[in-house]
Amino acid sequence: MHPRSRRRPTASRMLAGSIIGVTLVIGATSGLMVMQMRRSAWDQVGRVSQNLLESVEHMVDRNIELYDLSLQAVVDGLRNPEADGIAPELRQLVLFDRAATASGLGAILALDPQGQAFVDSSAVVPRPLGFPDADFFLVHKAREDGGLYIGKPLRMGPEARWVIPLSRRLSYADGAFAGVVVGTIDIGYFNALFARLSLGDRSRIAFFRDSGELLVRSPMLESAIGQNLTKAAHFPRFFEHHSGQFVATAYTEAMEGLFTYSRIGDRSLVATVVVPTEAITALWRPKAGAIVALVTLLCGGMIVLTLVLQRELERRGRAEEQALAANHDLARLAHTDGLTGLPNRRHFDEAFSRAREQAARDGTPLALVLLDADRFKLYNDTYGHLAGDEVLRAVARVLQRQIREPEETACRIGGEEFAVLLPGAPVREAAARAERIRQALARLQIPHVGNEGGIVTLSLGVAEAVPGESGGHCFSAADAALYEAKRQGRNRVVAGPSGVDGVKVA
Ligand code: GH3
Ligand code: MG
Ligand code: MG
Repeated sequence: MHPRSRRRPTASRMLAGSIIGVTLVIGATSGLMVMQMRRSAWDQVGRVSQNLLESVEHMVDRNIELYDLSLQAVVDGLRNPEADGIAPELRQLVLFDRAATASGLGAILALDPQGQAFVDSSAVVPRPLGFPDADFFLVHKAREDGGLYIGKPLRMGPEARWVIPLSRRLSYADGAFAGVVVGTIDIGYFNALFARLSLGDRSRIAFFRDSGELLVRSPMLESAIGQNLTKAAHFPRFFEHHSGQFVATAYTEAMEGLFTYSRIGDRSLVATVVVPTEAITALWRPKAGAIVALVTLLCGGMIVLTLVLQRELERRGRAEEQALAANHDLARLAHTDGLTGLPNRRHFDEAFSRAREQAARDGTPLALVLLDADRFKLYNDTYGHLAGDEVLRAVARVLQRQIREPEETACRIGGEEFAVLLPGAPVREAAARAERIRQALARLQIPHVGNEGGIVTLSLGVAEAVPGESGGHCFSAADAALYEAKRQGRNRVVAGPSGVDGVKVA
């Protein structure tokens, strides 16, 4: 194979490899870009959630604080011994002048140690209400230092609306339990506040008690209020830090989201903002999808083109190889004799010239043997031209067996004439080689009735090339020796430059 043709496919493969490599790098880079887009979407939602949560925390804390002031006013008022004696209408004014009258803030009741209402901010004659079993009553009965207690949510009033009870303890001078002051905040009130903060319709704002009861959830979800969240797998994570973020599946609905949470002041409440993963994904996925589609299309196209190009280059490489091989075959054919397959006269001339140059350079001998079939015209006349061709092939086979290629060369230089170049052989050795050729053919015993001996024979002339003399000189000497062999009776070898004593080996 030609060395160039061997290099070609490797080069095309390297080209294809590097283009595919570049394509993969582009693909990987855009992959990183998409990941970066995703991360920044999450970061952005995380930051916005935190800001929102701060507002929620502040809002809830402030509202509770304000309402607590009203409760404390009632506690202080009831503790004042003067309040006992005054007229009920006046006492209403004294006790509840600071009472919040904003919408969403319910009536304030004072309960006696048995849990029965004895003061009611909404009526001079208290409504017959009792909460002896409520958590906001029992907790103060059991503990002196309950402070402001935020109770479990409960339904109140004719519409059975969800409210959050806030209560404080009433104590006698000696510290004994004297009852409870309790007020309520309508959960709808917080929902209305949060609705103004909303992070978009997909986000959720909520807060719940440390003990797990959900108090507010915006947008409002009636069924979720009062649910105990302690069963949620992620519930303990709300208490790992004062505030933080994590990804989990919501408890009140099957939805994964980013939870941002924080305690509300120093109260036993936790507020959370949840943004569904789906909503965050919607921020980056459409753009990322477009990028991925575009890059995939471009890279895919590039890879396909490269493969097509590489295949085309390889196909051309192969075609070129074939053309080179065909040229090589043609060149070989131009130097080959069609009948015997031996190199022809043209090849002989070139080979002879090269061999003489080599011998002159190396200072080694070079012998030329010329061979001619004896009485071959007669053979053709007797056996036919085709049989004559067969004999010429037989001579060629004998020569191929007798010479040592590639140093030595045997050629068909004319009709029934052949030449053998023996580099490195002095004339005597060449004569001996010529004799072996003659005998080898004779051993074939090809019948030739018109020839002496009745078989096909050869006459051979041997000459040695003399450095400094022309190739024609040597050829003439060998031809003269051949002529001499014919003259002496054929079927023999005659050696030696003309003028020198012929060496007859026969
Ligand atoms: P000599 O012993 O003196 O060489 O006698 P000769 O008959 O061989 O000599 P000549 O040169 O007169 O004849 C050569 C013959 O070789 C003539 C031709 O018919 C025959 N010949 C030449 N080329 C071919 C060939 O390709 N095929 C065949 N069959 N015969 C060929
Ligand atoms: Mg002849
Ligand atoms: Mg002849």
